[in-house]
Amino acid sequence: MQSKLPNVGTTIFTVMSKLAAEVGALNLSQGFPSFAADPALIELVAQAMRDGHNQYAPMPGVASLREAIALKTNTLYGSHYHPDHEVTITSGATEALFAAITAVVQPGDEVLVFEPAYDSYVPAIELAGGHPIYVSLAPPDYGIDWDQVRLLVTPRTRLVVVNTPHNPTGRVWTGEDMHELAALAEAHNLLVVADEVYEHIRFDGRTHHSLASYPVLRERTFVIGSFGKTFHITGWKIGYCLAPPALTVEFRKVHQFLTFSVSTPMQHALATYLTQPDRYTTLPNFYQQKRDLFLSALAGSRFTFLPTEGTFFQNVSYAGLTDEPDHELAVRLTRDIGVASIPVSVFYQQRTDYHILRFCFAKDDTMLLEAGQRLNDWS
Ligand code: PMP
Ligand code: GLN
Repeated sequence: MQSKLPNVGTTIFTVMSKLAAEVGALNLSQGFPSFAADPALIELVAQAMRDGHNQYAPMPGVASLREAIALKTNTLYGSHYHPDHEVTITSGATEALFAAITAVVQPGDEVLVFEPAYDSYVPAIELAGGHPIYVSLAPPDYGIDWDQVRLLVTPRTRLVVVNTPHNPTGRVWTGEDMHELAALAEAHNLLVVADEVYEHIRFDGRTHHSLASYPVLRERTFVIGSFGKTFHITGWKIGYCLAPPALTVEFRKVHQFLTFSVSTPMQHALATYLTQPDRYTTLPNFYQQKRDLFLSALAGSRFTFLPTEGTFFQNVSYAGLTDEPDHELAVRLTRDIGVASIPVSVFYQQRTDYHILRFCFAKDDTMLLEAGQRLNDWS
């Protein structure tokens, strides 16, 4: 059979987590917390189940959760989304990304993708018949050359995919990036998909610039979030999409046949849980301590640390230590010293010879200290 996605194999996250489990390694590869979700949140799910919220949720999502998300977005970013016409609950950000891209990309459309890029964007673009056009960003700071971006725009450019804070690099877009994007999108009538799943995880006092807060962008953007990162519940797969009414109509045409609706008791629980903002406003501090602990544990190593402005990933360069390609080194370190990571080259289509590994620091302190010790000894 001719594959519709000939270049897609098993994701690196599955591959590395499986290998880590097989050899009993500390798993700092796939991005998920090693610690438990808040028992109060779990109790809210049990309560919702006892209260009988066990049948299909409405297709756009449980109303109280859509209202809670609209309130949070308005409070944080000064942008009001109507819960009925502009907020949709999805099966994680993954479904929202797929539904948004599928809803608007036509065969032959060009889509700007900044690479390194999270792995789910390009398959969705290609299944829709679109063509990814890559803007390649380079370490150590992964800054965007907007003149280069402008040169890549053609009459066929339809959509731009943005991810801030950025997986895998940890870069947070600046206000200036937002103004450049807004000017470009307006001049060429582009749509935008904004993957903001790490919106609450940024460091050193940095601001998250949500596309929701820029009127020119708000009117043309699918803003996508996920509770997986925010509340340590990646396995629940609950996310959402904010978009103006006309885009939401198209989005829901896909969503209703992709999943129709999302787990009901979890939605009720999250609606209640969201009423206390400190449950997410404390995250920068919580994760900055993890980042700094991991960095201090690695202080004696010969790695070079790349800046982590947000997300729960620390990238390290091993240039000068070995010439091995990063996917080989990631496997070797998992087997030899029992520390699993993600090779950053897998997030690139074009360039693969950077010597960089990504470590997830959403882990217990003891695990971070032990991993740091082993990496120190190795380097
Ligand atoms: N976007 C990015 C940048 C991610 O890192 C992830 C996964 N962690 C997702 C989307 C998918 O989120 P979800 O698990 O909610 O589907
Ligand atoms: N987003 C997670 C990461 O970057 C992985 C999610 C997945 O396994 N699909 O590690």
